[in-house]
Amino acid sequence: MATNTIIPIKSKTPKNKYDCLKCPGYCCSYPLIEVTERDIARVAKHFEVTVEKAKQKFFRFDKGEKSWVLRQQEDEHFKKICRFFDTTERRCTIYMARPGVCRAYPGEPHCGYYSFLEFEREHQQDPEFVATT
Ligand code: SF4
Ligand code: SF4
Repeated sequence: MATNTIIPIKSKTPKNKYDCLKCPGYCCSYPLIEVTERDIARVAKHFEVTVEKAKQKFFRFDKGEKSWVLRQQEDEHFKKICRFFDTTERRCTIYMARPGVCRAYPGEPHCGYYSFLEFEREHQQDPEFVATT
């Protein structure tokens, strides 16, 4: 049975220069996060629902992009964020079933958002500061 267990995401290592565990989730606040049919099928399997049901509940078809995208929810920091994001814990709730684009991001040892966040937190001398872009 699918659960909403929160699994820690990419944290800092000698190779990885960003720590998603300390980040409010900038990349999850993109207005249009495109998904593939394969991503939708994976999420459907995760929640044990049909692909049609998953499309209805978790995604929407964006006419401009001509693609399925993740639905969003309200967020105190970014106004809107992915509907799978836990807005209290600031974590993805479907980490193991997340779409390919989420797996691939940022695709390099540095995350620009995280560098910006570290700079702002240092500047404000507040390790919890949530800088908005
Ligand atoms: S913006 Fe960067 S550091 Fe923050 S959650 Fe996304 S990948 Fe991780
Ligand atoms: S599925 Fe998870 S990793 Fe992808 S945007 Fe949503 S909350 Fe972020």
